[in-house]
Amino acid sequence: MKTENDKILIIDDEQYICDSCRQVFVKDGYQVDIANDGITGLRKIKELKPHLVFVDLKMPGMSGMEVLEEIKKIDPTIVSVVITGYATIESAVEAMKREACDFLPKPFNPDELRLVTGRALKRRKLILETNRIREEKDRMKENFISMVSHQLRTPLVAVQQYFEVILGGMVGSVSEEQKNMLNRSKIRIDELIRLIKEWLDFAKIDANKLVSELKPTDLIPILSRIPDTLQSLAKQNNVNVKMDIPKNLAFISGNVNTLEQVFLNLVENGIRYNIDGGNVTIAAQMENGYVKVEISDTGIGISQHELPFIFDQFYQVNPGNRTDGTGLGLCIVKRVIDAHSGEIKVTSEPGRGTVFSILLPEIKEEKNER
Ligand code: ADP
Repeated sequence: MKTENDKILIIDDEQYICDSCRQVFVKDGYQVDIANDGITGLRKIKELKPHLVFVDLKMPGMSGMEVLEEIKKIDPTIVSVVITGYATIESAVEAMKREACDFLPKPFNPDELRLVTGRALKRRKLILETNRIREEKDRMKENFISMVSHQLRTPLVAVQQYFEVILGGMVGSVSEEQKNMLNRSKIRIDELIRLIKEWLDFAKIDANKLVSELKPTDLIPILSRIPDTLQSLAKQNNVNVKMDIPKNLAFISGNVNTLEQVFLNLVENGIRYNIDGGNVTIAAQMENGYVKVEISDTGIGISQHELPFIFDQFYQVNPGNRTDGTGLGLCIVKRVIDAHSGEIKVTSEPGRGTVFSILLPEIKEEKNER
């Protein structure tokens, strides 16, 4: 398991332990250093950048457990092994919790030391390999996303613009029949651009990343912005968007951009699947430690047998009759709500309307994220 540059640091207040370990390691060809206390050890970690650190648990001053915690902060790829004369189950468990990868009880002989060292360095290689694969996966995903957005979206947007120029009569007159066909082609291109946009949004939602970015968030400003944003769509469809939200709501642990996307999606659906002169209501209230947001509409509704599928990727009710939509909106909504440890439910009655209820767990802190 040993490679040319493997570097080992031993942090122990007993000089003879340090010396005897050093002897073994030097003989085996490792680069090795020693420190007799935690503070010196941490300084040497920063200087030497070791791959493996042996840490004595009982030392005067900074304890081994504290050293372990600091090591992870300095470099999470460093593996540490705990050495102690008082090997109890409790101390082993405590050390493992601080991510020590092994335990070496005193006294130990050179073979035992070599065995633990080999195992620990193997572990480090696995950590490095896992990190490398994860980074490569992220890079591939990002490359793919930007490739799709450039290679597919850019030419489509150019085509869309040419259609506008031709339809606007700027390059000569267009007969009614041609206009009709060009208009239909333009609608298809618009759909494709929308599909690519939603698909890119979908690909970008990385649940793990989202969870790491959650901050105390107030939903009121997010919800209040929606009617303005969707004003023209609502007018076009002759649908009223109403608000029924209190002055204050508890904060939730959230990501503003994706939550905004969720509520916009739901209200937009409420408008698009509505009837002439219909309503969409955005309501919010506290319920048993959750902030509950309800988006209800007086629209066409969804039949009971379709309801279980509407959150699936690309699922659309009556896709054959449709020229709009992608079937991705609700799938994005569900993914975002799941990443917020929330819940989404839907009830609907064909011909009467649909209610989407979202529950997000409240938090007590009152820091602003608007
Ligand atoms: P789309 O892009 O087709 O709207 P969504 O994932 O947002 O995709 O929705 C999936 C399907 O669920 C839609 O195609 C539509 O048939 C149905 N749907 C969603 N919201 C509503 C609603 N408020 N009222 C009626 N049907 C809805």
